[in-house]
Amino acid sequence: MGYVDTRKQVDAQVLLDNLAAYKHRHHIREPVLIVVSQDLFRNGSSSVFGLARESVGGAVVSSARLTNEYYGKAGDDADLIDRLTKEGAHEVGHLFGLGHCNNHECIMFCPDNLDELDGKKKMLCDSCRSEIEETIDMM
Ligand SMILES: [Zn+2]
Ligand SMILES: [Zn+2]
Repeated sequence: MGYVDTRKQVDAQVLLDNLAAYKHRHHIREPVLIVVSQDLFRNGSSSVFGLARESVGGAVVSSARLTNEYYGKAGDDADLIDRLTKEGAHEVGHLFGLGHCNNHECIMFCPDNLDELDGKKKMLCDSCRSEIEETIDMM
């Protein structure tokens, strides 16, 4: 789904197009988060950690650039799980209508690099939290 041989990357937007079609075909209404090991890109961005599309209720995250090994350091499963949790929660936050946040510790902050991702805490800031609570109340 969306794999581009010449880039050795997956086009996240094509993958989400396919996910939309799949969800439609199988009448899946629940939000879906896909985790892939291939590197992701999107139009205009050479690489992305993940991508969400609220209209589809679908999101994808990649583990490719979340491993220590990618940066030439010794591997650590706990680090990888930590980062996947943050990225996954971030994309699911988008599915619940949250935008990006300026608070560097908030899950909805959009990190440019691994250090910024590691600097985030596994929680929403107060303002994102109250926003998502309002959304959930309306469901
Ligand atoms: Zn985001
Ligand atoms: Zn926030």
